[in-house]
Amino acid sequence: MTQQWNIEDAEALYGVKRWGAGYFSIGEHGNIQISPNHRKPDVYIDMNEVLAEMKAEGIEFPAVIRFHDILRSQVEIINETFRDTITTANYNGKYVGVYPIKVNQMREVVEEILDAGEAYNYGLEAGSKPELMAVLAYNENPEALTILNGYKDEDYLTLALLGRHIGRNMIVVVEKFSELEMLVRLSKKYKIDPMIGLRSKMMVRSTGKWSSSSGDRAKFGLSIAEIVNAMEYLKSHDMLHCAKLLHFHIGSQISDIRKVKEAVTEGARLYAKLVQMGVPLEYLDIGGGLGIDYDGSSTTTDSSRNYSTEEYVADIVYGVKQICDLEDVKHPNIVSESGRAITAHHSLVVTNVVGEVNPGATEFDFSAEEGEHVLVSNMRELVNGHDIHPQERYNDAAAYKQSAYEAFKLGILSIREMAKIDTIYWRVLTDIHHGLDSETRQIQELEELEDTLASQYLANMSIFQSAADTWAIGQLLPIVPLTRLHEKPEVRISIADITCDSDGKIGKYIEGNSISDNIPMHRLRKGESYPIGMFLTGAYQDVMGDMHNLFGRLTEVHIFSHDDEPGAFYIEEIVPGHSAEKVLETMQYNTDYMAKMVKKSIDKQIRKGALAPREGVRWSDFYESCLAGTTYLRDERK
Ligand SMILES: *Cc1c(COP(=O)(O)O)cnc(C)c1O
Repeated sequence: MTQQWNIEDAEALYGVKRWGAGYFSIGEHGNIQISPNHRKPDVYIDMNEVLAEMKAEGIEFPAVIRFHDILRSQVEIINETFRDTITTANYNGKYVGVYPIKVNQMREVVEEILDAGEAYNYGLEAGSKPELMAVLAYNENPEALTILNGYKDEDYLTLALLGRHIGRNMIVVVEKFSELEMLVRLSKKYKIDPMIGLRSKMMVRSTGKWSSSSGDRAKFGLSIAEIVNAMEYLKSHDMLHCAKLLHFHIGSQISDIRKVKEAVTEGARLYAKLVQMGVPLEYLDIGGGLGIDYDGSSTTTDSSRNYSTEEYVADIVYGVKQICDLEDVKHPNIVSESGRAITAHHSLVVTNVVGEVNPGATEFDFSAEEGEHVLVSNMRELVNGHDIHPQERYNDAAAYKQSAYEAFKLGILSIREMAKIDTIYWRVLTDIHHGLDSETRQIQELEELEDTLASQYLANMSIFQSAADTWAIGQLLPIVPLTRLHEKPEVRISIADITCDSDGKIGKYIEGNSISDNIPMHRLRKGESYPIGMFLTGAYQDVMGDMHNLFGRLTEVHIFSHDDEPGAFYIEEIVPGHSAEKVLETMQYNTDYMAKMVKKSIDKQIRKGALAPREGVRWSDFYESCLAGTTYLRDERK
């Protein structure tokens, strides 16, 4: 019974275009396709060709694929949207954005962003000492800004002054008053003027997971009274001229545009009042928070946003302009610190399904036998009980199974009988589920059968490594088969990973316009790989992963699009994932010692004559090759 199915149906189910932001769609052959360059929307890369080339290069799953063109496109889009809006609005300041490297600190990512942003004097933001050391080395553009956030000690502030000495526009954003005192002291010691920013603890509260980033109890920033005190303090040290920037950041993934408008109004008003007090500010830094539509719903749910980038930029530019005009204050240069919006789309995790866990899938002969227990015969009668009302049939099956369990515990049922009852039980549930109509589906217990019967597909990955936020904060990330999208997906499944942790699974899926606990996918075929992709992992997920179960970092494949290449792309670089050796060493193991200990035990068996010498050598070679090998599962399929 194959119903008609085409890629439009697949699109409606998985919503690829809705969250794909113009970069992802489904191609006519049923494969995911990527259009990585926003200036060339007609250049498509077929995901299946990428997978084929990876295979030819010997790259195993799981792997991270980075599309550098997407990264570049996002940098261009945000800068050009600000530029265009500033021109149209007759706004008198400039846009000088920075990329906050905490969102994805990978060197290749930072380099690509700087390169794409050079034409716009796009800078970097750091929030810790090691990040500051990285941006000191990498942000060489004398026109671009470097914004320094986060809590700071003397070394941090001294490194910032080093930046001033070598001609960088390093702006130290003061998060708490004591930092200002330290900074004033150090700048006198090293005889150089710092560029000072002030972070305001905003009154506006964002919604969603990051709402505590603003408000009276926020971890970062100065209250209005502290800001006024800070200005007096700078004045008393004859350093008021160093105050250059007012900063706020009300939280990440702002889902509701009204919060952006409110924050801009509050921030611009504060800016104007400070300028009127004689503070020579030049920059208004509106922080990050530009959201990503992870679920494609364009709503104010935590995983979405109800606005476009154009609308976001317009609300900022026109909002700041209006208040500054009313207050008769020169328009500031606008700084924003979008991280998620720059990086989220550019990378995805590709992996394969290595197996299936389904309680109802086990084959077991349950035919009748002489003298079998009555519970077995009763349960078997339900198999053909199509004329029984589904609720009653379900109740009976559940009751027989419970009784069987009690009987087994008392030693009344044999192990074979218990196995039969179990097998029939799942058979009956599956049959009930198939037979439900619009009326019986309303019965809650029967509706829940969908969840009970869904298979788990085991994905060769660790969500703790590759999608930490799906576990930590219930972040939704799109998961889609990469091929076979022109075929009807016939089984409902949920995805579990290969870690030894029951939490290692994905609990939420995009299904049409709603969020489900499981999702239709295709039946696995023997000997054939079933590749799936977890999308929009470029922000935070790429770099937050932990070492749970010692799986370690994935192999990375860096892809550039190119019209002249077959398939319109080439693999520019392969960065091997962590070997077992490498992750063990980060946990303080000495793998040479481990290999020696295993060899010693093998030698002992050889001396006893329990193992042939040649065989022993083979075993210790094997152990060593596994140390050098992948931490993930090897793909046994084709
Ligand atoms: C994390 C952070 C950002 C980045 O926020 P996104 O929502 O990823 O754009 C910007 N500024 C500050 C101060 C941050 O802490």
